[in-house]
Amino acid sequence: MEKLINVAYLVASVLFILGIKQLGSPRTARNGNFLSSLGMLIAILVTLFDKHVLSFQWILVGMLVGGAIGAVMALKVEMTAMPQMVGLLNGFGGGASALVALSEYYRSGFNTQLETIISIMLSLIIGSVTFSGSLIAFGKLQGLVTGNSVQYPGQHVINLLLILLTVTLSLLVVLQQSLQWAVITVVGLGLLLGVLLVIPIGGADMPVVISLLNSYSGVAAATTGFVLRNPMLIITGALVGASGVILTNIMCRGMNRSLMNVLLGGWATAAQLEAARGKKEIVIKSVDAEEAAMLFESARSVIIVPGYGMAVAQAQHAVRDLKNVLEQKGIDVKFAIHPVAGRMPGHMNILLAESQIEYEKMYALEDINDAFHQTDIAFVVGANDVVNPAARNNPSSPIYGMPILNVDYAKTVIINKRSMAAGYAGIDNELFGYPNALMYFGDAREAITRLVNELKNHS
Ligand code: NDP
Repeated sequence: MEKLINVAYLVASVLFILGIKQLGSPRTARNGNFLSSLGMLIAILVTLFDKHVLSFQWILVGMLVGGAIGAVMALKVEMTAMPQMVGLLNGFGGGASALVALSEYYRSGFNTQLETIISIMLSLIIGSVTFSGSLIAFGKLQGLVTGNSVQYPGQHVINLLLILLTVTLSLLVVLQQSLQWAVITVVGLGLLLGVLLVIPIGGADMPVVISLLNSYSGVAAATTGFVLRNPMLIITGALVGASGVILTNIMCRGMNRSLMNVLLGGWATAAQLEAARGKKEIVIKSVDAEEAAMLFESARSVIIVPGYGMAVAQAQHAVRDLKNVLEQKGIDVKFAIHPVAGRMPGHMNILLAESQIEYEKMYALEDINDAFHQTDIAFVVGANDVVNPAARNNPSSPIYGMPILNVDYAKTVIINKRSMAAGYAGIDNELFGYPNALMYFGDAREAITRLVNELKNHS
């Protein structure tokens, strides 16, 4: 029996690894998701048979209640609120790991092996930091908590002291397991640290913190796996932890920032952003659907740059129609995708894939940036921060140094958005006033549908 269970765990682990591998490309992602789900089903079933489950009734109740809440959330969530939901789920993962560790602490009767109590304390710390940190990240994305950096004097010193206190109390518990007050205090400190470590991170730095919290939730699960001596949980936790670190690294490269710089640097506060704003009057030129259509008619090459606004407007299908009508006119169309565009990693790829746009037409920043020089029209659909030239030429800008899509190097850049409002980072964009820039105002879905109709009328 023991052997059979281990073989089943091995099969599930291989399915997870194959699943993650396939999730790496949009073409195979659906299949990857299926393989991972199958692995998870095997893992759950085998764990239920393997472990001496005290009461199946409680497990059933938990699965029904949790499953029902999950199903309602998944059905009700707007596509635009998906990033917040992913953030929240990270937090639940961390919270669940911490709760399991806490219950194991009490179950052990304060007399467990050294490695188990160490794992319990690690799981409590990482799990509670992940839980409260993810709630703050959720609040920032949902607009419930300010998206700007919140800073105060002595922030780093206070955080450092809290970390030292948490470690010291945890060591005390390891030496004397019956110190329940210390365990509860460690949980409280973990929750506090989660809040304090995430509130100074704001604006364009948020993608890094979201992927990092994703990684933490995996590490918390892995340490809980050590607590329960469950190899499956250790493997899955490690996989999530490792892939989260890789994603964090990709996001850091997308921002051209080191992780330390993001975590310790602190984004500009609301007051600093206000001070940096409004110094220069931007004079813009705008076009309507008919004028925009005429410009597209005379173009030979177009690069479409989607951003968060495309997700808000659910304009991906209209964008696909635009691509089709342009291609019918013999115009070359490509898509340029910035790694931090939208509000979650891979956000734009998912939306474009949903509207059946071919994967070969989607280019990553480094593969397409040199092509803007030879492009007639760069069409920006609801993107702002990821095309802001301040990242290249304004050393005092909070996004200075971040690689951007060089849309301004195209002969003409047409920007579709509803107003002159700033993007997520809250900073002005001088691109809108460039001599080769034209604003095409309106909700992306409506504006692009009008543009497509104009183009069809011209043919
Ligand atoms: P931005 O948030 O910079 O800009 C989006 C623009 O879309 C806004 O300026 C807005 O202008 C416009 N918009 C909103 N609704 C519509 C609509 N219905 N139709 C047309 N336009 C609309 O988006 P980007 O994608 O350029 O940049 C992403 C930002 O989010 C970066 O700062 C990134 O760091 C951050 N971020 C990214 C995460 C990730 O994982 N990818 C996670 C968290 C944050 P207007 O209101 O005038 O229409």
